[in-house]
Amino acid sequence: MNLYFDEDLEQFQHNLARWVDERLAPQAEALDQSKEFPRALFKELGELGYYGIMYPEQYGGLGLAKPYLYYTVLCEELARGSMGFAAIVGMHGSAATYAVHTWGSEALRQRYLVPALKGDMVAAFAITEPDAGSDASAIRTRAQKVEGGYRLTGNKVFISNGCNADFITVAASTDPQKRLKGVALFLVDTKTPGFTVARRLDKLTTHCSDAAELVFDEVFVPDECRLGSEEGGFLNAFKSLTVDRIFTAALAIGTGRAAYDAALKYAKERQQFGQPIGKFQAVQFKLVDMLAELEQCRLYTYHAATLADRGQPIIIEAALAKIIAADGCNEICQKALNIFGGYGLMNEYPVQRYLRDSYFPMIGGGTSDIMRMLVARQLGI
Ligand SMILES: Cc1cc2nc3c(=O)[nH]c(=O)nc-3n(C[C@H](O)[C@H](O)[C@H](O)COP(=O)(O)OP(=O)(O)OC[C@H]3O[C@@H](n4cnc5c(N)ncnc54)[C@H](O)[C@@H]3O)c2cc1C
Repeated sequence: MNLYFDEDLEQFQHNLARWVDERLAPQAEALDQSKEFPRALFKELGELGYYGIMYPEQYGGLGLAKPYLYYTVLCEELARGSMGFAAIVGMHGSAATYAVHTWGSEALRQRYLVPALKGDMVAAFAITEPDAGSDASAIRTRAQKVEGGYRLTGNKVFISNGCNADFITVAASTDPQKRLKGVALFLVDTKTPGFTVARRLDKLTTHCSDAAELVFDEVFVPDECRLGSEEGGFLNAFKSLTVDRIFTAALAIGTGRAAYDAALKYAKERQQFGQPIGKFQAVQFKLVDMLAELEQCRLYTYHAATLADRGQPIIIEAALAKIIAADGCNEICQKALNIFGGYGLMNEYPVQRYLRDSYFPMIGGGTSDIMRMLVARQLGI
């Protein structure tokens, strides 16, 4: 039972959990091994309306009163099946489409947001560069003003959905002298000449979610594709990434839950010294500690999502949710692997995937230490 859920949300979670159990979970291992972007599943979930959680009905959204709670449930449930798939959806349906909805013109919303919510287009969000990760003020991608628009030149790295995106919200500097105050967001259609995917990065974690290195070589972006003001891009990106931290926490929780469930089942089945290993106190204590951690992560994350739905400030809460859930669920996955013994290291058991995937929320969207730095700053220290 979750105190933050009402009957409608419980029903929503129930329906989604069924889709995850029937459609996503059975494909999770194959997706992890093939590392392929699951386009058919992506489209299927779009047709079911889940990408519209955050948006009004006029664009194909669900027009919900508590979109943050619902989106948190979406991220948690999907990650229980496959964090790779959940990472694709998490990025697509929030940060990557948020900017078009919030700062895009009506024409842009019709052209990009509407098909994206149906799953007919894939969206990405690009800030990070080879020399600008935690320090976003160091971004070098340049947006040079020209007649009728801008020319974007620079490189982005680690961009989720980057190889498959139809459009990308890109942070670029309109005035390098002004550092963060000279950053704007641009919607780049990936069919535009000058845009290329330099490579798909091979990685430890979230295999089916691609991480791309992107090159912008004098890519022309018309004026109408600047999302927000010439100076406010960094602040706008910060707003959208703040909310995203709650969703990243939910990704961690989904994987933590999957690891806990698998370890509990295994502890009841695996026999050693003539009895199930779950009868040994050392294993019991691990499982109880895992459950305690999981409950703490869930309660705090849903608390942060509830505050977001109430329109209250969440800078501290979203960062704390990400720290608690990302670090906590990584520990849960480590304990689960330990309970599986040697089989934990075998690729035929999913527990090694859970542990690999659990590193993503600790880094994606800002590392846990950067979250601590952010909270410390809010505390005035
Ligand atoms: C799988 C994956 C998907 C991603 N998807 C996207 C995406 O879609 N879009 C996007 O824009 N970015 C994306 N990122 C990038 C992600 O946001 C960055 O990796 C993250 O912000 C950290 O930056 P960095 O990797 O350059 O690490 P660095 O900034 O180089 O940090 C390295 C280490 O130094 C520490 N450190 C740095 N500065 C400080 C400081 N001031 N105080 C204390 N410690 C510090 C960090 O905590 C870390 O431990 C993704 C990353 C991954 C791994």
